[in-house]
Amino acid sequence: MSSAAIEPASVGAMFLGCIADDFTGATDLANNLVRAGMRVVQAMGVPTQPLDTDADAVVVALKSRTLPVNEAIAQSLAALRWLQAQGAQQIYFKYCSTFDSTAQGNIGPVTEALMDALAEVPGSDFTIATPAFPDNQRTVFKGHLFVGDVLLNESGMQNHPLTPMSDANLVRVLQAQCRRKVGLIDYQVVAQGEAAIRARIGQLRAQGVGLAIVDAISNDDLLRLGPALKGMPLLTAGSGVAIGLPANFGIAPSSTASALPAATGLQAVVSGSCSLATNRQVQAFIQAGGPALRLDPVQIAAQEAAGVDGVAEVLAWAEPLLRQGPVLVYSSADTTAVKSVQGQLGVDAAGALVERTLAAIARGLVTLGVRQLVVAGGETSGACVQALAITQMKIGPQIDPGVPWCHAHTEAASGEGLHLTLKSGNFGSDDFFTKAFARLA
Ligand code: ADP
Repeated sequence: MSSAAIEPASVGAMFLGCIADDFTGATDLANNLVRAGMRVVQAMGVPTQPLDTDADAVVVALKSRTLPVNEAIAQSLAALRWLQAQGAQQIYFKYCSTFDSTAQGNIGPVTEALMDALAEVPGSDFTIATPAFPDNQRTVFKGHLFVGDVLLNESGMQNHPLTPMSDANLVRVLQAQCRRKVGLIDYQVVAQGEAAIRARIGQLRAQGVGLAIVDAISNDDLLRLGPALKGMPLLTAGSGVAIGLPANFGIAPSSTASALPAATGLQAVVSGSCSLATNRQVQAFIQAGGPALRLDPVQIAAQEAAGVDGVAEVLAWAEPLLRQGPVLVYSSADTTAVKSVQGQLGVDAAGALVERTLAAIARGLVTLGVRQLVVAGGETSGACVQALAITQMKIGPQIDPGVPWCHAHTEAASGEGLHLTLKSGNFGSDDFFTKAFARLA
């Protein structure tokens, strides 16, 4: 695979090149690959430069899940071209474990565009699709996706505002999005292992099938599937399939994969998530005696209107405390308080105000010497990463399922590295804000 448009890699070639359709999903995939032994870098968007570090896998994080289909395809193809230029041996298109999509896409159209773009690579006439992730209660049986004990269309996903999933039969769902014929590799085949899976793929190919949903009801199924995917130029899945792939490249789980530079510097938590788990984590940190400052969005709005620099006030509060240990700055609040704020400021305006304030605070804290930063909240994380102008992160050890420590460079840290973890709202145990720092030490 090669591309004339992009400079080739200057460091060792990578095994897996991954394209994720959203930001936290990218980290979830990266985390699984690291746990299976790969050294992984996550890039925010399609990089403009070759990778400047060795990695077995790179996950390019896009925000393409709900974009108009043509834009999702264009971004995915740009990611493919960059990954090819870095020497990626296999391409992994990662989507949500609840198969978030509509009849228009984007899973099917992006997959087919990638297959078309890879057409000259032998074997690219066929690929698999499975969102199975048993560790996270996502299983596929007879082509039907279960979320915990219920079918996808009874899981609450049928009411999703952007991608309502009203059919659990993934063969049907994917077929509605594809020109190519969609088939099934069912659990009985998967249970027999690599040879049977390969034979079934041969059979499907002979029938003119281009994509197949794969059943998997346990991690063992995913580990049996892995060897059968060796050499397949493109595969598409949630993050679960990742656990069976590193072995194909001779890689075994090891703690060196998640090794990050030694942690130094001051410690802080910035929390803009109002999810139940995060609210519990805020309370646990305060109850453990940690210094915490609550931000009131209505007051911030008033300060902004009066030209008062509220961020500077927060940083002045934090500066002397940081020398004694981690500090917490949070806007996290319960539903009643959030509704009240939204009623006064408007939903979007309140969200944007809090995000840009917390992002400025995160940047300010790094300028003050914070080198270990916990950010709680998906959107909040996006805003903080943007304010810190971070374009790449190396993925480190897991703190809690789906949440690893990462290491990045930002000029706000004046040439030093920054350890950061980006926690999705509902992830993590109640003591996450203290446990995270202990994990790094
Ligand atoms: P999660 O991962 O829990 O969904 P996000 O950071 O993605 O967290 O979303 C939380 C949203 O709520 C952000 O837009 C944030 O700015 C906003 N927000 C945070 N605190 C408050 C608050 N006290 N009142 C209103 N909105 C808030």
